[in-house]
Amino acid sequence: MPRSTATPPPRDDLKERVRDAVDIADVVGSYISLRRQGKAMVGLCPWHDDARPSLQVNPERQTFRCWVCDIGGDVFNFLMRMEKIEFREALEQLAERAGIPLPKGRGGLAVDDKAALWKALGWAADLFHDCLRAQPEAAPARDYLAARGLETRTVERFRLGYAPQSWDWLLRQAAAAGIPVADLVRAGLAVERQDRSGHYDRFRGRVMFPIRDAQGRCVAFGGRVLPGADDPAKYINSPETPLFSKSSMLYGLDSAREAITKSRRAIVVEGYTDCLAARQAGIDDVVAVLGTALGERHAKLLRRYADRIVLVLDGDDAGRRRANEILDVLLAEPIDVRIARMPAGIDPCECILERGRDAFEALVAAAGDPLDYRMDEALAALPPDAGDDAALASIESVLKGLAAVSPRSPLPPSQRRLREDQVLGRLARRFGLSRDVLRGRMLELRDRSDTAAEPGDTAAPRALPRLPAWDREVIEVLVGVPDSVGLIVRQVGAAGLESREARAVLQAAEKLHGAGRQVALSDLLLEIEDPALQSLLVAVDETSAARGPLDAHERMHHLEDALRRRHAERQAHASARTLKTSRLDARSEAELLERLVAERRTAQGMSDPKDG
Ligand SMILES: [Zn+2]
Repeated sequence: MPRSTATPPPRDDLKERVRDAVDIADVVGSYISLRRQGKAMVGLCPWHDDARPSLQVNPERQTFRCWVCDIGGDVFNFLMRMEKIEFREALEQLAERAGIPLPKGRGGLAVDDKAALWKALGWAADLFHDCLRAQPEAAPARDYLAARGLETRTVERFRLGYAPQSWDWLLRQAAAAGIPVADLVRAGLAVERQDRSGHYDRFRGRVMFPIRDAQGRCVAFGGRVLPGADDPAKYINSPETPLFSKSSMLYGLDSAREAITKSRRAIVVEGYTDCLAARQAGIDDVVAVLGTALGERHAKLLRRYADRIVLVLDGDDAGRRRANEILDVLLAEPIDVRIARMPAGIDPCECILERGRDAFEALVAAAGDPLDYRMDEALAALPPDAGDDAALASIESVLKGLAAVSPRSPLPPSQRRLREDQVLGRLARRFGLSRDVLRGRMLELRDRSDTAAEPGDTAAPRALPRLPAWDREVIEVLVGVPDSVGLIVRQVGAAGLESREARAVLQAAEKLHGAGRQVALSDLLLEIEDPALQSLLVAVDETSAARGPLDAHERMHHLEDALRRRHAERQAHASARTLKTSRLDARSEAELLERLVAERRTAQGMSDPKDG
């Protein structure tokens, strides 16, 4: 294929710029702790039950790899697996991390647009806070917080605020501060009137809890009414905005992250004041959900820092219902989830303030296995004279929970098996069924949930395809010797490879080469988004590097040699066929025979006497 004569395109490709701006060691290091080992960094692999650090990060190549799971790739691939997201989203997240503005209209806001919203929210947080501290109209709010036992230092530390009972308190000041109304609306602070005749403040007469993102920037608010107000909504939160998603954020995470990383535990409570009371008492690994149930995305977020989530639920019926709803989701996450139940009629905030830190810690320490919890609930709901259908339904509900337990749970397999056996044993005794029957049904349910898993679930390790020796050699040289691409494209070509995987890699290389681009490992990784192929490439690269330093020239020479031999082999094969099948005169036969011998010699790597 002729190399393009046009000048190579400028390196304005977003993917390349993002790749060059982030360091894979930083990104991986924000999920798992890495330590240096020779040239590489190593850490515990998040995708298998890793006892010794099997995940290697190669800062030089900007790749990662786990030998046990047989997976690897570049920084995009790491994020895709870790967050179970598509390439596009990984690109956006990393672009934001690197401060590279994304082109508009492809989902997500440009960094500039977000900056205006951050500014409006930060400005509002200051106003609410100043109002709470100093304004006479905020006196009831100060009284409320004092009655909840929250001290001034806590109010200051978390910058609680107050939004006065007025339709335009914030809007009026925005004009003077030069904050556009449109920004207030987009930030969720103001709402347009239905008849479009103007705007009004979203938060009125409420204690304000600023909600911060991981970088500590205010991105939303939770607002609580004061006792005695006739507003039926006790809490309202900011709506979903480009900066705020309640299903993937947690209150207080920015300031709890360090403590959670240290204790490897995250206590999740349901109220802002519960969270603050715990912090005030010196329990720092506590966060709160934002008026929504703890979900899958929360679990993924916490999994970066914690091995265990302790979910603290109210003792009332609503708390019980919520627990049941979220268990199936949480059990499927590879994190150890525990459920702590508050005694009826008391919330965590009251518990800490009235009974003390130790009483709350004891409740957390006694938090139970959610499977036991599920079973207790199912059995308790079953009347003694329940019919077969009701009994069956409750058995199914327990088995479903059991089947949902992630095979990637951080518990060692032996412990998981033990837990399964305990639950199955209890069920068997209670209903007079055999354990084997119950286990069979559970495995059925598990199979079903496996096949129902989304196809984009890239986190599940896939077996690495084993390449035929020749394909492997070609790919190894392609990856290890960037200059080799021309030779390989010309003399091998995708058609000259046996396996689908190696062909896909070579096609990507041909495409880059045809466009006059570089074809180094990192370029191939950008071009190839299939996680299995990425893993393959990194594996080939690492094994070839591990095999020792062969210089590029020597590698090329080997390949050229091998190409010559393969060519000779094919020729010899053809000559032999002709000899066998064609009727030749004696002279032609002798000639052909001579050629065949020469071809065979070449194929076996012996030099041709004619060349000598
Ligand atoms: Zn692994």
